[in-house]
Amino acid sequence: MPAESAFTPRDLPSVDALLRVAGVPALIAEHGHRLVVDEARALLGELRADLRARASDPEARAPAPEGLASALGARIEARLRPKMRAVVNLTGTVLHTNLGRALLADSAVQRVVELMASPNNLEYDLDTGRRGDRDAIVEALLCELTGAQAATVVNNNAAAVLLTIAALAGGREAIVSRGELVEIGGAFRMPEVMAAAGATLVEVGTTNRTHPQDYERAIGPRTALLMKVHTSNYAIQGFTASVDEAVLARIAHQRGLPLASDLGAGSLVDLGAYGLPREPTPREKLEAGCDLVSFSGDKLLGGPQAGLIVGSREALERIRRLPMKRALRVSKLPLAALEATLMLYLRPERLARELPTLRLLTRPVEAIRALAHTMQPALAEALAPRFTVETLELHGQIGSGSLPVEVLPSAGLAIAPAERKGAGRALDALATALRALPRPVIGRIADDRLLLDLRCLEDPGPVLSQLAALRELVHGA
Ligand SMILES: *Cc1c(COP(=O)(O)O)cnc(C)c1O
Repeated sequence: MPAESAFTPRDLPSVDALLRVAGVPALIAEHGHRLVVDEARALLGELRADLRARASDPEARAPAPEGLASALGARIEARLRPKMRAVVNLTGTVLHTNLGRALLADSAVQRVVELMASPNNLEYDLDTGRRGDRDAIVEALLCELTGAQAATVVNNNAAAVLLTIAALAGGREAIVSRGELVEIGGAFRMPEVMAAAGATLVEVGTTNRTHPQDYERAIGPRTALLMKVHTSNYAIQGFTASVDEAVLARIAHQRGLPLASDLGAGSLVDLGAYGLPREPTPREKLEAGCDLVSFSGDKLLGGPQAGLIVGSREALERIRRLPMKRALRVSKLPLAALEATLMLYLRPERLARELPTLRLLTRPVEAIRALAHTMQPALAEALAPRFTVETLELHGQIGSGSLPVEVLPSAGLAIAPAERKGAGRALDALATALRALPRPVIGRIADDRLLLDLRCLEDPGPVLSQLAALRELVHGA
């Protein structure tokens, strides 16, 4: 077939003919017959439909054979590209729920790699040679780090809260302040979780103020639990009052009732010691008298998705007896990562270096600013003349429902369209181009600029190495 011949649908090669076109046998050698044939058939089908739709267009041409071969190669590449991909988080939010929350420490990644391709002692007691319990892998460590008597791990903190309520208040009443009826996002809303756990929610106090007497008056014969929920993703300010765990524990325990606390993020260390805003720790809540405290593994703790429950032996026993506990159990994959992450806390002096979440949160703004200045010329060159690029001071966030009103001083780059006309569309197109890169770059649009916060960019390589491709996407468009 001549290279530039014009095809009608009839002139498109058969699948078999396409498989013999130069370049295609190499594709078969690499990927095997099945995938190449499937994609060849799909490609030819699409081209045929396209040519038919343009039957009256005298300019309509089917691609030449080499064009078909490269289109087929591109299809196969796209077919094999995973849906889940590494991206560059330049949103300024360190724990970004939509971008996978905490990054695992090197040691945790290493442990997952080592353990997942090998049999392991997930539920096998190496001392006795008998069946073991997966909780045993991290229970002692969690108890040491929080001061709890017992601990368990489940799929996430939502599951931990569900189990806590089901175990301590199933079929009876749980009392929660109206100021703490949180919605975490998705379908996780405290009143609905209560219902799903089979407990009746008893609301006390008001949105802004709840007092000890409110709880005392609500306690009745059907009360089974007092519950405290950390208002992790919003703040009630102004004329406010809430009852802390120490007071609540006294009220609950005087009547023989347990107190549970949903901490949300639950940092295992005092963030204040690292120059960050303070978050309550599970240890503090247990010391204040909580019987159970639950928190996430992939928020401030900096590990994999998991829900950690720590507390009294008796309360944990009630959780372990629930069939739902088995349904919500954690798999070996996060468990391996969690153990390695918790180990890092045994050496707190090294934590800010080894735990990515803490390392990113404590990154000095001077270092971020310096990086912005180094990157600015390269980015400006790639985007000129359609956009201008400036360095600027920014305010990032911890994210994932931690300290919603605190901001982290940060720095980065602001990209603005050179022309005012059509600026909004130009910005959207730029954000789209950044997301279309092999390693998508995610920024945020604010005040008619695209902002790239560099707090989470420890290595500029993945951005700088994609600038040529970005230039092509932006200027080729
Ligand atoms: C984040 C959060 C949850 C849910 O935790 P996941 O680990 O995301 O399931 C529950 N309660 C509070 C207060 C939270 O902040």
